[in-house]
Order: sequence, then C-alpha cells, then structure tokens
Amino acid sequence: MLHGPGELFVEEVAEPEGEVVVAVEAATACATDVKCLRYGHIILGPYPARFGHETVGRREDSGERVLVGDSVACGSCPPCGAGRPQLCDRMTWVVGGFAERIAAPAAALHAVPAGLAAAGAAMAEPLAAAVHAVARAGAPAGADAAVLGGGTMGLMLARLLVLEGCDVTLADRHPERRAQARAFGARGVEQLGRHELVLEAVGRPQAWRAAIAAATPGATVVLVGGCPSGSDVTLPAAPLHYAELDVRGAFHHDRAEVDRALALLAGGAVDWRALAGETVGLDGLRDGLLRPAAGEARKLVIDPRV
Ligand SMILES: [Zn+2]
Ligand SMILES: [Zn+2]
Repeated sequence: MLHGPGELFVEEVAEPEGEVVVAVEAATACATDVKCLRYGHIILGPYPARFGHETVGRREDSGERVLVGDSVACGSCPPCGAGRPQLCDRMTWVVGGFAERIAAPAAALHAVPAGLAAAGAAMAEPLAAAVHAVARAGAPAGADAAVLGGGTMGLMLARLLVLEGCDVTLADRHPERRAQARAFGARGVEQLGRHELVLEAVGRPQAWRAAIAAATPGATVVLVGGCPSGSDVTLPAAPLHYAELDVRGAFHHDRAEVDRALALLAGGAVDWRALAGETVGLDGLRDGLLRPAAGEARKLVIDPRV
C-alpha cells in the first residue's frame, strides 16, 4: 500500500472487491511503478493506494489464467467513438497487481495462452504499448528504423520493428543493452545517425530533441517515452517545417493490441525471458523499484507467493 510519495508498506488489507477476484501469480514492474512510488501518478486512486499494472493470475471463480488489463475504456466518449479507446476521456484504470489478490471488472481480463508463464504474460501490457507505437509509426517493411533508448520498452520496439521487416538500429549508451538489441535482431550503436523512422523510448526532453535530430527529411518520429508531467519540450523549428517531419505521440494500447502481444509472447516471437529480471516477493518490491538501473534492461518480477 502506498500511503504517500515514497511511503510503501506491506500490510494486511481487506479483501479486494469487484466483479472478478484474481489470485496474482506475477506482476512485472516498469518505470511507471517507480513514478507511482516516488511521486504519485494519475492512475493511482486516493491514498492509501494499491499499484502494479502488469498483472497475471488465476480467477478465483473459474480458475482460468488471465492477464488483468490495466484499463477499461468507456466505449462511448468521443475518442472511443473515433476508434481510439486508448485516449478514452473516462478511462477506468485497474491497478493493484502488487498484492496477493486483485479485483477487476470482467472487461479488463484477457485469457492467457496455454503454456505462457505468468511473468511472460504480464509483459503483454508493456508489449501492447509497443505494438501500438509500431502501428502509429506505420513502418513499411524494409524501412530504415531507429529506436532511441535500450530500456525494456526500447528493446520491445526494436524486436517488433524487426518482425515487421524493418532494418533496425537501437541506440543506448550501455553496451549490455546494445548486446540485447543485437540478440533481438537489431543493430546496437552508441549514437544514432539519421533514419527515416525514429521511435523515442527514453521519455526526457533532451531525448525527444535527439529523436528529431536523428530524422532524415520527410521522416516519421514517434514519441513513445512519456516525459515527466509538466514538462515543456523545446524543439527546433527548422526540421519540423523544412524537413516535413511527422512527429506523433504514442500512448497506451487497446484490447486487440493486448491480445496480439500475448500471442507474440506465447509463440516466442518476442522472447520474454530475455527481458525478465529478478523475481522478488512483496517484501522485495520497494528495494527492487528503487535500485538504480544498470547493465542489461530487465523487468523486475513480483511473485506474492515467494
Ligand atoms: Zn508498465
Ligand atoms: Zn471512452
């Protein structure tokens, strides 16, 4: 339970109430969870708040293994009506995966393909966001595509672009992450040259500028990493205008993208084991989230049963 920024405690709490109760088998963590812990986040309810949004477990009613999707769109607001439910005006966020049990609306659940381990299935949430970002990029096969940032999101983007038939270069200053990119079929470099498609996966103003600087005339730039809330980003006017850059945001995912991500993980097209890090119990969550990232990019796995 989060009691305020930085205040995380493992506590016995009342049983969660909702349409379906799921006994958690694995919840993976990402930078959003670190933000939740350190600063609070828009997806959190009022304190004391539960968090964790990449969650897989077993339905207590039917025993079925499910991914607990982290959002349910309303289906009736203007963005939902326009076929963009990831931008829903009245999104219901479903968080609380860092727990023994989580309650969720049935509409948030996805069946987990047989044979896919819980930690792998939990990664369908971030992978779905990568699937969405690649769809936003509209990458044609053979495109010269670049990814800026070799965290787990950058690596997922690189892998998906490789699967789309692109020629993919990933830039990261950590040699271990460049090696991970190579294992996914991409080129690993310290700094990007110039590319016809650039996906930014860092989430800092200077990285957004670097993504623009790495774009060839007429290129598409997709901003996948969210900058800290309240950020203003200054971008150079000349390439936006004279080089006719298409600069697009990519945020979140829809239900079909989550199912696509589950299928990619189950079929082995995206090797989740290459992105899985240490498994800890709830008692290890705080230290795991606050540990500085170094070396390879791997996701912390929380298993409340250990
Ligand atoms: Zn996440
Ligand atoms: Zn809506």
